[in-house]
Amino acid sequence: MCGIVGYIGHREAYPIVMEGLKRLEYRGYDSAGIALYDGSDIKLSKTKGKVADLEERVKEEITTEGTIGIGHTRWATHGVPNDVNSHPHYSNSGDLVIIHNGIIENYDSIKTELIKRGYVFKSDTDTEVLINLIEEVKKKQNVKLGKAVQLALNEVVGAYAIAVFDKNKPNEIVVAKLGSPLAIGIGDDEFFIASDASPFIEFTKNAIYLEDEEMAIVRRDKKIKIRKIKDDSEVNPSMQELKFNLEQIEKGGYEHFMLKEIHEQPNAIRDTYRGRLLAKEGIIRMAGIDDNIEKFLNANRIIIVACGTSWHAGLVAEYIFEDLARIPVEVEYASEFRYRNPVITEKDVVIAISQSGETADTLAAIKLAKSKGAFVFGVCNVVGSTIARETNAGAYTHAGPEIGVASTKAFTTQITVLTLIALKLAKANGSMSNSVFHHHLQELELIPEKVKEALKADEHIKKVAEIYKDAKNCLYLGRGYNFPVALEGALKLKEISYIHAEGYPAAEMKHGPIALIDEQMPVFVIATKKGHYEKVVSNIQEIKSRSGKIIGIVTTGDVDVKNVADHVIEVPETIESLTPLLTTIPLQLLSYHIAVMLEKNVDQPRNLAKSVTVE
Ligand code: GLU
Repeated sequence: MCGIVGYIGHREAYPIVMEGLKRLEYRGYDSAGIALYDGSDIKLSKTKGKVADLEERVKEEITTEGTIGIGHTRWATHGVPNDVNSHPHYSNSGDLVIIHNGIIENYDSIKTELIKRGYVFKSDTDTEVLINLIEEVKKKQNVKLGKAVQLALNEVVGAYAIAVFDKNKPNEIVVAKLGSPLAIGIGDDEFFIASDASPFIEFTKNAIYLEDEEMAIVRRDKKIKIRKIKDDSEVNPSMQELKFNLEQIEKGGYEHFMLKEIHEQPNAIRDTYRGRLLAKEGIIRMAGIDDNIEKFLNANRIIIVACGTSWHAGLVAEYIFEDLARIPVEVEYASEFRYRNPVITEKDVVIAISQSGETADTLAAIKLAKSKGAFVFGVCNVVGSTIARETNAGAYTHAGPEIGVASTKAFTTQITVLTLIALKLAKANGSMSNSVFHHHLQELELIPEKVKEALKADEHIKKVAEIYKDAKNCLYLGRGYNFPVALEGALKLKEISYIHAEGYPAAEMKHGPIALIDEQMPVFVIATKKGHYEKVVSNIQEIKSRSGKIIGIVTTGDVDVKNVADHVIEVPETIESLTPLLTTIPLQLLSYHIAVMLEKNVDQPRNLAKSVTVE
């Protein structure tokens, strides 16, 4: 995820693009760049760091006149955040320049082909591959820029919102979209291009939001032309009148970043498995695993180290790895692991999980494990982060920036990556038959749609939140795969509403916590059809007999729990190992609504920080 912005018209482009980048910085902030056309040439400046760093660099490097410009604030997916990998990217001839938000999945094979034809690459990005593919198509087929973009995009698999400029055709910008957002602001003889409308809201209230697989040629002084990328058919532009203010746009119309990120999960999960999960072919491609498969297959055990929500994702992974791949797993709090003189050998594989990739305790655990000769694999969201650099190999979650302090999409995307790894290993070590493997891949591919379905319960969840918002204590129960989800549900509530909550394995309740149950105690029980369902129903009966209030997270169409619970919240059915990706959704929404009703600062809860870089 990143922010793209562009302008073509009669005003100075620089201030519009630069201000636009500042407004889009919430979408990505590891590097930034700008390209302006001054009437005779492209002037380009880019740097690792924030938009403010770019502003300084521009002052030193380029003059800023020109009425055409494009800019980018990056959230790296391919290639660490550094000056060279920052956007915009030139084509080899220097004639074309591109900004891109998204991932080109098949960039590697295209790159190999282009290298054979003499192309050289300066960066590690997928984006530079795309601009050179466009250049190659343009030259080889002798077509105009718009056509070249269209033909090239038909060869590409992945997601994109792009803007491309050709210095030999200096009156147009070509834009295209698939998967990533792209808005075009329509002024008087001027156009604005951006990931959302925030960069142009004060200039025009008229916008066109491109649909997937659409492209547009934006020409100064001319009407905009939109076409379908696949079949070149013309599309009638549908203009929208913008009614949002700036802050609402940045939060995508949601009241808080946390709510926006909860709703981003279908796309975030899809982005996580994009290019990795090839369900039809029955393949999982993950370079970090493929290159080190022997390390995993020969390991005595896997040790997972993490903190907070990532630790809960690690616990889910323990169930997945042991159940599906039959590999022994231990899950450790990084802060404990680093100081307790653990037994680690060269036959151990350590998986370190951290959203930011900067968590101090996890980093220390990695160093300790490495010093003992273990192979260390990182799972983080921030490309080029310290943990990504310090580990022997790794896999990014590609969830996009998470701004809300209480982690939501980081959790589900971590589970997605860990599931992919477990499935890959299960297949490789023979613990899973081909047909079961295929079934898992198909089910995983359906998860984003099912998460979308689960999110539809939002209004109902809000009503449940209203009933229980004044509780002083809450219990969260789950079994098997959903025990860690109970822990995570309780943590979410604690973090943002400051209500005391505990998560327990449902059966463990009778060994203590049952003493807490009375009519004041809401108990959130995860009781999906798969996974110890009958046992959980018995646990629910035990709570009911002691007058506890039951809120069941159940599979759509459930009857048994509905009969005893005070409320149920439904999630779609899936295979057991994937249920955490669905059951966690209502618990996130519940915490969110309770915190909002209690007027807490949802995005920045007291005493907490997004990335814990101190021990
Ligand atoms: N895949 C591109 C890169 O890594 C774009 C990432 C983004 O959306 O910011 O540079």
